[in-house]
Amino acid sequence: TRRIVVTGSASGIGRATAELLRERGDEVIGVDLRDADIAADLSTPEGRVAAAAAVAARCPDGIDAVVACAGLSGVTPLLVRVNYFGVTELLTALRPLLAKSAEPRAVVIGSISGTMPHDAELVEACLAGDEQLAVKLAQAAVDRGEPRRLYPSSKAALARWIRRTAIAPGWADAGIPLNAVAPGNVLTPMMLPILDDPAMKKVMDQAVPMPLNGYAKPEVLARALTWLVSPENSHITGQTIYVDGGAEATTRGDGV
Ligand code: NAD
Repeated sequence: TRRIVVTGSASGIGRATAELLRERGDEVIGVDLRDADIAADLSTPEGRVAAAAAVAARCPDGIDAVVACAGLSGVTPLLVRVNYFGVTELLTALRPLLAKSAEPRAVVIGSISGTMPHDAELVEACLAGDEQLAVKLAQAAVDRGEPRRLYPSSKAALARWIRRTAIAPGWADAGIPLNAVAPGNVLTPMMLPILDDPAMKKVMDQAVPMPLNGYAKPEVLARALTWLVSPENSHITGQTIYVDGGAEATTRGDGV
Protein backbone atom coordinates (compact mmCIF):
# COMPACT_ATOMS: atom_id res chain seq x y z
CA THR A 1 0.00 0.00 0.00
CA ARG A 2 1.30 3.43 -0.93
CA ARG A 3 0.63 6.32 1.43
CA ILE A 4 -0.39 9.37 -0.55
CA VAL A 5 -1.13 12.88 0.69
CA VAL A 6 -3.80 14.64 -1.39
CA THR A 7 -4.50 18.32 -0.73
CA GLY A 8 -7.82 19.80 -1.76
CA SER A 9 -9.27 16.33 -1.13
CA ALA A 10 -12.75 17.61 -0.23
CA SER A 11 -13.76 18.79 -3.70
CA GLY A 12 -13.25 18.65 -7.44
CA ILE A 13 -9.98 17.27 -8.81
CA GLY A 14 -8.52 16.48 -5.37
CA ARG A 15 -11.61 14.57 -4.37
CA ALA A 16 -11.67 12.56 -7.61
CA THR A 17 -7.97 11.78 -7.19
CA ALA A 18 -8.41 10.64 -3.59
CA GLU A 19 -11.29 8.38 -4.67
CA LEU A 20 -9.31 6.83 -7.53
CA LEU A 21 -6.26 6.18 -5.35
CA ARG A 22 -8.41 4.55 -2.64
CA GLU A 23 -10.15 2.40 -5.26
CA ARG A 24 -6.71 1.20 -6.36
CA GLY A 25 -5.79 0.25 -2.80
CA ASP A 26 -3.60 3.16 -1.78
CA GLU A 27 -3.92 4.86 1.60
CA VAL A 28 -4.93 8.50 1.16
CA ILE A 29 -4.29 11.22 3.70
CA GLY A 30 -6.62 14.02 2.63
CA VAL A 31 -5.82 17.63 3.55
CA ASP A 32 -8.38 20.42 3.16
CA LEU A 33 -10.02 23.26 5.02
CA ARG A 34 -12.71 20.83 6.19
CA ASP A 35 -14.11 17.35 5.44
CA ALA A 36 -10.63 15.85 5.35
CA ASP A 37 -8.34 13.55 7.38
CA ILE A 38 -6.29 16.63 8.22
CA ALA A 39 -8.09 19.98 8.43
CA ALA A 40 -5.63 22.77 7.65
CA ASP A 41 -5.60 26.22 6.09
CA LEU A 42 -2.82 26.21 3.51
CA SER A 43 -3.14 29.97 2.97
CA THR A 44 -1.03 30.68 6.07
CA PRO A 45 2.52 29.66 7.07
CA GLU A 46 1.15 28.31 10.38
CA GLY A 47 -1.49 26.24 8.58
CA ARG A 48 1.15 24.68 6.31
CA VAL A 49 3.43 23.86 9.25
CA ALA A 50 0.48 22.33 11.12
CA ALA A 51 -0.51 20.27 8.07
CA ALA A 52 3.04 18.93 7.62
CA ALA A 53 3.30 18.14 11.34
CA ALA A 54 -0.02 16.28 11.25
CA VAL A 55 1.16 14.22 8.26
CA ALA A 56 4.44 13.42 10.05
CA ALA A 57 2.57 12.37 13.21
CA ARG A 58 0.35 10.07 11.15
CA CYS A 59 3.10 8.67 8.95
CA PRO A 60 6.37 8.64 10.94
CA ASP A 61 7.86 6.10 8.50
CA GLY A 62 7.32 8.43 5.58
CA ILE A 63 4.94 8.99 2.70
CA ASP A 64 5.11 7.72 -0.87
CA ALA A 65 3.59 10.64 -2.74
CA VAL A 66 2.01 14.06 -2.59
CA VAL A 67 -0.72 15.25 -4.97
CA ALA A 68 -1.23 18.98 -4.36
CA CYS A 69 -4.68 19.97 -5.65
CA ALA A 70 -5.80 22.65 -3.16
CA GLY A 71 -6.29 25.91 -4.99
CA LEU A 72 -8.44 28.98 -5.41
CA SER A 73 -9.64 30.91 -8.43
CA GLY A 74 -10.95 34.46 -8.55
CA VAL A 75 -9.41 37.86 -8.15
CA THR A 76 -8.19 37.93 -4.55
CA PRO A 77 -4.59 38.15 -3.22
CA LEU A 78 -5.47 35.09 -1.13
CA LEU A 79 -5.08 32.92 -4.22
CA VAL A 80 -1.36 33.76 -4.37
CA ARG A 81 -1.03 32.43 -0.84
CA VAL A 82 -2.93 29.20 -1.57
CA ASN A 83 -1.94 28.43 -5.18
CA TYR A 84 1.76 29.19 -4.87
CA PHE A 85 2.96 29.28 -1.25
CA GLY A 86 0.39 26.74 -0.04
CA VAL A 87 1.83 24.28 -2.56
CA THR A 88 5.55 25.06 -2.54
CA GLU A 89 5.93 25.45 1.22
CA LEU A 90 3.93 22.34 2.01
CA LEU A 91 5.90 20.27 -0.51
CA THR A 92 9.16 21.59 0.91
CA ALA A 93 8.02 20.65 4.41
CA LEU A 94 6.95 17.16 3.28
CA ARG A 95 10.11 16.41 1.25
CA PRO A 96 11.96 14.70 4.14
CA LEU A 97 8.98 12.34 4.60
CA LEU A 98 8.94 11.63 0.86
CA ALA A 99 12.66 10.88 0.92
CA LYS A 100 11.96 7.94 3.26
CA SER A 101 9.96 6.16 0.54
CA ALA A 102 11.52 3.65 -1.87
CA GLU A 103 9.54 5.19 -4.76
CA PRO A 104 8.62 8.76 -3.86
CA ARG A 105 6.67 11.01 -6.24
CA ALA A 106 5.09 14.47 -6.20
CA VAL A 107 2.74 16.33 -8.51
CA VAL A 108 0.94 19.66 -8.33
CA ILE A 109 -1.86 21.25 -10.34
CA GLY A 110 -0.83 24.11 -12.56
CA SER A 111 -3.16 25.52 -15.22
CA ILE A 112 -3.40 26.49 -18.86
CA SER A 113 -3.68 29.97 -17.30
CA GLY A 114 0.03 29.76 -16.52
CA THR A 115 0.66 30.34 -20.26
CA MET A 116 -1.46 33.50 -20.30
CA PRO A 117 -0.28 37.09 -19.67
CA HIS A 118 0.93 37.49 -16.12
CA ASP A 119 2.62 39.93 -13.77
CA ALA A 120 6.39 39.32 -14.01
CA GLU A 121 7.18 41.16 -10.77
CA LEU A 122 4.67 39.08 -8.85
CA VAL A 123 6.04 35.86 -10.35
CA GLU A 124 9.58 36.87 -9.31
CA ALA A 125 8.42 37.66 -5.75
CA CYS A 126 6.88 34.19 -5.55
CA LEU A 127 10.00 32.48 -6.88
CA ALA A 128 12.11 34.48 -4.38
CA GLY A 129 9.94 32.97 -1.63
CA ASP A 130 8.85 36.45 -0.51
CA GLU A 131 5.22 35.87 0.44
CA GLN A 132 4.80 39.31 2.01
CA LEU A 133 5.97 41.10 -1.13
CA ALA A 134 3.92 38.80 -3.37
CA VAL A 135 0.74 39.51 -1.41
CA LYS A 136 1.53 43.26 -1.41
CA LEU A 137 1.96 43.24 -5.21
CA ALA A 138 -1.24 41.22 -5.58
CA GLN A 139 -3.15 43.68 -3.39
CA ALA A 140 -1.72 46.57 -5.44
CA ALA A 141 -3.02 44.91 -8.63
CA VAL A 142 -6.47 44.59 -7.04
CA ASP A 143 -6.36 48.24 -5.94
CA ARG A 144 -5.43 49.31 -9.49
CA GLY A 145 -8.45 47.38 -10.77
CA GLU A 146 -6.23 44.81 -12.56
CA PRO A 147 -6.73 41.61 -10.57
CA ARG A 148 -7.19 39.29 -13.52
CA ARG A 149 -3.50 38.46 -13.83
CA LEU A 150 -3.25 37.13 -10.28
CA TYR A 151 -4.42 33.60 -11.05
CA PRO A 152 -2.24 33.21 -14.20
CA SER A 153 0.69 34.65 -12.22
CA SER A 154 0.24 32.15 -9.38
CA LYS A 155 0.21 29.25 -11.83
CA ALA A 156 3.08 30.57 -13.99
CA ALA A 157 5.19 30.91 -10.83
CA LEU A 158 4.26 27.39 -9.78
CA ALA A 159 5.28 25.92 -13.16
CA ARG A 160 8.65 27.66 -12.91
CA TRP A 161 9.15 26.53 -9.32
CA ILE A 162 8.52 22.92 -10.39
CA ARG A 163 11.07 23.24 -13.15
CA ARG A 164 13.78 24.60 -10.82
CA THR A 165 13.01 22.46 -7.82
CA ALA A 166 12.73 19.14 -9.67
CA ILE A 167 16.48 19.23 -10.36
CA ALA A 168 17.54 20.99 -7.15
CA PRO A 169 19.37 19.00 -4.44
CA GLY A 170 17.01 16.72 -2.52
CA TRP A 171 14.65 16.01 -5.40
CA ALA A 172 15.98 14.35 -8.59
CA ASP A 173 19.11 13.21 -6.77
CA ALA A 174 16.89 11.68 -4.07
CA GLY A 175 14.80 9.87 -6.68
CA ILE A 176 11.73 12.14 -6.37
CA PRO A 177 10.03 13.10 -9.65
CA LEU A 178 8.20 16.45 -9.32
CA ASN A 179 5.78 17.57 -12.02
CA ALA A 180 2.72 19.69 -12.69
CA VAL A 181 -0.49 18.78 -14.48
CA ALA A 182 -2.10 21.75 -16.21
CA PRO A 183 -5.82 21.40 -16.90
CA GLY A 184 -7.96 23.36 -19.32
CA ASN A 185 -11.55 23.78 -18.11
CA VAL A 186 -12.63 21.07 -15.69
CA LEU A 187 -16.20 20.52 -14.49
CA THR A 188 -15.67 21.10 -10.76
CA PRO A 189 -17.34 23.33 -8.16
CA MET A 190 -14.65 25.93 -9.00
CA MET A 191 -15.60 26.12 -12.66
CA LEU A 192 -19.32 25.20 -12.85
CA PRO A 193 -20.64 28.62 -11.72
CA ILE A 194 -18.45 30.32 -14.34
CA LEU A 195 -19.62 28.03 -17.15
CA ASP A 196 -23.24 28.53 -16.04
CA ASP A 197 -22.94 32.23 -16.85
CA PRO A 198 -23.31 32.56 -20.67
CA ALA A 199 -21.07 35.65 -20.90
CA MET A 200 -18.33 34.07 -18.78
CA LYS A 201 -18.66 30.77 -20.65
CA LYS A 202 -18.01 32.59 -23.93
CA VAL A 203 -14.88 34.24 -22.52
CA MET A 204 -13.60 30.90 -21.16
CA ASP A 205 -14.32 29.04 -24.42
CA GLN A 206 -12.34 31.64 -26.33
CA ALA A 207 -9.42 31.71 -23.90
CA VAL A 208 -9.32 27.93 -23.39
CA PRO A 209 -10.44 26.20 -26.60
CA MET A 210 -10.71 22.42 -26.07
CA PRO A 211 -11.09 20.77 -29.50
CA LEU A 212 -10.38 17.29 -28.09
CA ASN A 213 -13.47 16.08 -26.19
CA GLY A 214 -14.41 19.44 -24.64
CA TYR A 215 -14.51 20.15 -20.92
CA ALA A 216 -12.88 17.49 -18.76
CA LYS A 217 -14.45 15.72 -15.83
CA PRO A 218 -12.29 15.74 -12.68
CA GLU A 219 -11.73 11.97 -13.11
CA VAL A 220 -9.73 12.70 -16.28
CA LEU A 221 -7.25 14.77 -14.31
CA ALA A 222 -7.21 12.16 -11.54
CA ARG A 223 -5.97 9.51 -13.98
CA ALA A 224 -3.01 11.63 -15.12
CA LEU A 225 -2.15 12.67 -11.55
CA THR A 226 -2.26 9.10 -10.21
CA TRP A 227 -0.02 7.86 -13.01
CA LEU A 228 2.54 10.60 -12.41
CA VAL A 229 2.81 9.56 -8.74
CA SER A 230 2.90 5.85 -9.53
CA PRO A 231 6.15 3.84 -9.64
CA GLU A 232 5.66 3.64 -13.43
CA ASN A 233 6.79 7.24 -13.69
CA SER A 234 10.52 6.83 -13.29
CA HIS A 235 11.89 9.52 -15.65
CA ILE A 236 9.44 12.38 -16.11
CA THR A 237 10.37 15.33 -13.92
CA GLY A 238 10.24 19.12 -13.98
CA GLN A 239 7.46 19.04 -16.57
CA THR A 240 4.11 20.67 -16.93
CA ILE A 241 1.84 18.13 -18.61
CA TYR A 242 -1.16 19.78 -20.28
CA VAL A 243 -4.31 17.70 -19.83
CA ASP A 244 -6.39 20.27 -21.62
CA GLY A 245 -8.14 18.86 -24.71
CA GLY A 246 -5.70 20.64 -27.02
CA ALA A 247 -6.03 24.12 -25.48
CA GLU A 248 -2.29 24.75 -25.11
CA ALA A 249 -1.56 23.42 -28.60
CA THR A 250 -4.29 25.68 -30.00
CA THR A 251 -3.35 28.87 -28.18
CA ARG A 252 0.45 28.57 -28.41
CA GLY A 253 0.75 26.65 -31.67
CA ASP A 254 4.36 26.33 -32.79
CA GLY A 255 5.49 29.22 -30.66
CA VAL A 256 6.75 27.30 -27.67
P1 NAD B 1 -12.45 22.93 -6.12
O1 NAD B 1 -12.85 24.27 -5.63
O2 NAD B 1 -13.49 21.94 -6.44
O3 NAD B 1 -11.43 22.26 -5.08
C1 NAD B 1 -10.40 22.99 -4.48
C2 NAD B 1 -10.20 22.49 -3.06
O4 NAD B 1 -9.12 23.24 -2.48
C3 NAD B 1 -11.44 22.70 -2.17
O5 NAD B 1 -11.80 21.51 -1.51
C4 NAD B 1 -10.98 23.76 -1.20
O6 NAD B 1 -11.56 23.67 0.10
C5 NAD B 1 -9.47 23.53 -1.15
N1 NAD B 1 -8.81 24.73 -0.64
C6 NAD B 1 -8.99 26.01 -1.05
N2 NAD B 1 -8.31 26.85 -0.27
C7 NAD B 1 -7.69 26.10 0.67
C8 NAD B 1 -6.86 26.40 1.77
N3 NAD B 1 -6.57 27.68 2.11
N4 NAD B 1 -6.38 25.39 2.52
C9 NAD B 1 -6.70 24.10 2.23
N5 NAD B 1 -7.48 23.75 1.20
C10 NAD B 1 -7.98 24.74 0.43
O7 NAD B 1 -11.54 23.24 -7.38
P2 NAD B 1 -10.84 22.29 -8.47
O8 NAD B 1 -11.34 22.72 -9.78
O9 NAD B 1 -10.87 20.86 -8.08
O10 NAD B 1 -9.35 22.85 -8.34
C11 NAD B 1 -8.24 22.04 -8.00
C12 NAD B 1 -6.99 22.66 -8.59
O11 NAD B 1 -7.10 22.65 -10.01
C13 NAD B 1 -6.74 24.11 -8.21
O12 NAD B 1 -5.37 24.29 -7.99
C14 NAD B 1 -7.16 24.86 -9.44
O13 NAD B 1 -6.50 26.10 -9.54
C15 NAD B 1 -6.75 23.91 -10.52
N6 NAD B 1 -7.40 24.12 -11.82
C16 NAD B 1 -8.74 23.92 -11.96
C17 NAD B 1 -9.32 24.12 -13.21
C18 NAD B 1 -10.80 23.92 -13.44
O14 NAD B 1 -11.26 24.19 -14.57
N7 NAD B 1 -11.57 23.46 -12.48
C19 NAD B 1 -8.53 24.52 -14.28
C20 NAD B 1 -7.18 24.70 -14.10
C21 NAD B 1 -6.61 24.49 -12.86
